[in-house]
Amino acid sequence: MATFVPVPAKKVFKGKLRNKIFLFMALIGIVPLVAAAVMTYYVVTSSHRDDVAKLEAATLTQTQGEIQSFINNDILTQTSVEIPYGGNIFATSSVPAQQYVLGQTLGALPFLRSEEYVNLAGTVTASADRNDLFGSATSSSLSSSSTNVGASPAFQAAKNGNDYLGPVAFVPDATGKNIPTVTFASPVKDSNGQIIGVIAGVAALDELQTIVASSNIGNTGYLYLVDQNGALIAGGGFAGDVGSSTVAQIPMVQKVIGGAPALTAATQMRYKNAFRQSVVAAGAPMNEDGQYWGLVAEWPTSEADAVIDALLLRDAIMLIVVFGLVLLLGAVLALIIVRPIDTLEEGTERVAQGKFNEGVSIRTGDELQELGDSFNDMVMGLKQLEQLKDEFVFVAAHELRTPVAAMKGYLELILEGTTGAIPDATRAFIEKVIASNQRLIQLVNDLLEVARSQAGRLTIQVAPVDIAPAITSTLDELKSLADEKGVTMTYDAALAGAPLPQVLADADRIKEVVTNLVGNAIKYMGGAGSITITHELAPAAESLTRDGRDLPAMLVTHITDTGLGIPKEAQQKLFEKFYRVQTDKTKDITGTGLGLFIVREIIEKMGGTIGVVSEEGKGSTFSFALQVAPPSEN
Ligand code: ADP
Repeated sequence: MATFVPVPAKKVFKGKLRNKIFLFMALIGIVPLVAAAVMTYYVVTSSHRDDVAKLEAATLTQTQGEIQSFINNDILTQTSVEIPYGGNIFATSSVPAQQYVLGQTLGALPFLRSEEYVNLAGTVTASADRNDLFGSATSSSLSSSSTNVGASPAFQAAKNGNDYLGPVAFVPDATGKNIPTVTFASPVKDSNGQIIGVIAGVAALDELQTIVASSNIGNTGYLYLVDQNGALIAGGGFAGDVGSSTVAQIPMVQKVIGGAPALTAATQMRYKNAFRQSVVAAGAPMNEDGQYWGLVAEWPTSEADAVIDALLLRDAIMLIVVFGLVLLLGAVLALIIVRPIDTLEEGTERVAQGKFNEGVSIRTGDELQELGDSFNDMVMGLKQLEQLKDEFVFVAAHELRTPVAAMKGYLELILEGTTGAIPDATRAFIEKVIASNQRLIQLVNDLLEVARSQAGRLTIQVAPVDIAPAITSTLDELKSLADEKGVTMTYDAALAGAPLPQVLADADRIKEVVTNLVGNAIKYMGGAGSITITHELAPAAESLTRDGRDLPAMLVTHITDTGLGIPKEAQQKLFEKFYRVQTDKTKDITGTGLGLFIVREIIEKMGGTIGVVSEEGKGSTFSFALQVAPPSEN
């Protein structure tokens, strides 16, 4: 049955603390930073938007003023035209004189196309046309004096004391270019302020193009003026489009034409303009004597938001730099805290394996160092305890050896009949006592051996030796025991036909090892069976070990039995002190659990290794490898 082997906790959590510290640091460092960056960006952006809005609004207001000044002061103030004779010429003068004044006015004001004087009855008494100036026209214009315009809204408005402005009409000039024109009328008053007639006419508005096109915002922002239908009257960036409805569908145009309610300066829109550029727009509706025009400002965001974009870029770069720094610091801090903890963990692992020779070195100059020092004190204490225990075991075992040996001697004398004949019943008991005493002797010897090894007093003299004679003599010693249990032992001392090389070992200790391993094979056979001992040569290998050392050639000895076998999970622990496999089949077999521990100590002290391959119910193979002795010099 497969047993569940839980993953050791340290593997599960490795690196977790470091990650936590790192994450924590990153959060502490980055969250406020991001918050500050977002807030700064928000505040700066909205204040910048305010600035943009204010700039656009100011430009709009100024341009609007200039447009109104042109309309009111230049077009609609014909009544203030003074003639050299003083007084209002229209109140008293003859028609030719009126005609003359109108002609003069047209000459002085180049944007006027035509002008006429209408008396209160609605009759045109004098008129002048730019096309007929200063020629025969002066007199021929008189012929229009019979025209009556009394019903026109222009005349009606002016007669009632109001200025009048008609809808914009686009008239192509000689080159085909559209010129915006407007019909106007205004009252003529005498020196008493009494309305005596009306001056009406047609004025060209191309002057507005100069006004609007020269109104800029930054380097790329521009303004344009549209009439109530969204047709372009004048505008920067729209050369040649005057009179067209290029911009009629633009959202801001829709907002400002046709008598739209006034916008606040903050009413800004962002959209794509007629040239498919992103712009931030503002607008102002205009009411010129009942004509609802609209003035729009558009500023490409590439310039309007340049400051913000630069700020955003700087913010982003700063954020990335600080982010990187925080990550770096977080990683360093995590390391600073975690490394001593790792060191401590390795220390505890060593203690768990019974290694008390090495403390930990933590030099952080803080509580962690104190913890490390306390840990070292604890290890020292444990080491002393261990030494005391070893000492005690050694002394106890040593002191026990003499009495148990004496008991053995006397018991054997009694059994041999030295003290007289012994009844059969007594003999059986004495034999049992001898067997128990024998186990006691074995235990005492094992304990002594362990204590010696623990105290570093295991004496081992390594020299080139022939291993085969040591094995053969050991097998001879164990033969009677094996025969008794029905176990056959086969030893093949050859190595694929070649003679066995000498190994670096202690001949007496080899016998001890083989006695133990073959003894175990007999003991844990679980009935009759066989033991086979063979050799194998592992050639020298270069850089085979993990640390890159070269491996010398090794002679491996395999001791294979057909016995009980060892469960998988027990195999790793076999060589530990006092470890014994506890199954139904082994529970009646006596032992100390020290044999394999001693065997491993001996093998490793001779520079060799030992391992086991086993299958429960089928048998085991214990293999130990010893270094092949280098060929002698001579
Ligand atoms: P002991 O034999 O005194 O119990 P050892 O250290 O020699 O102690 O062996 C430890 C355990 O290993 C034994 O209790 C036994 O269960 C198991 N063992 C050793 N050798 C064999 C073997 N050849 N076959 C099966 N089990 C073995």
